[in-house]
Amino acid sequence: MFQEVKEGVFIYDTIVSGPKVLVFAGVHGNEVSGIDACKRIIEDAKSGKFVLKNGKLVIVFANLDAIKLNTRYKDINMNRCFDEIDSSQNLSEYNRLKTLKELFLDVDYFLDLHSTSSKTEPFILCDESDNFFAQSLNAKFILNGVDKFKMFNGISNFYAKKNGSIAINYEAG
Ligand SMILES: [Zn+2]
Repeated sequence: MFQEVKEGVFIYDTIVSGPKVLVFAGVHGNEVSGIDACKRIIEDAKSGKFVLKNGKLVIVFANLDAIKLNTRYKDINMNRCFDEIDSSQNLSEYNRLKTLKELFLDVDYFLDLHSTSSKTEPFILCDESDNFFAQSLNAKFILNGVDKFKMFNGISNFYAKKNGSIAINYEAG
C-alpha cells in the first residue's frame, strides 16, 4: 500500500529487500498519460489489484502547480532544472525540486514519464549504458546522447544517472 509522505509523493515500501524504483510523472503538468498511469497504480494498490512483492516503489507527481494548471510548467521548464537550482529565485519549479532532490539517493531505477506535443511513436531518452533496461520497456526507439547538447542540460534522467541510478525518460508519444 502507498503512503503519501509529502504532497504528491507516494511510497510503497514492502520492507522486503529489492530494488528501489523512483517514478516521476507530471514534470510537465499537461502530459497526462504518465500522471494517469501513476494514479491507476496507486488505486490498484489500494484495491489489492497491484501488489509489490519486494523493494520499494516511489511515485512522484512532480510539478504540482503545473499539473493543477494543466500547463507544461508554471515559471520555468522543470526538466532543465535538475542539475542546478538558483536559490535566489523564488520560482515554483525550483521550490518544488528542492523538496524532491533527496528522493534521488540510493535509487536503483529511475523512470520519468512524459508525452510529446507532436505526434510520434513512444520513445526513450537515456544514457547508452542503460539501453539494456530501455529495451525492455516496449518503446519504438531509443535516443542516446542528448545530454551532450547544452539545451538538454538539467534533464531528470541524466541527473538520476549522475546519482548512480539506471535512468530513463519515457516519451509516450
Ligand atoms: Zn515532457
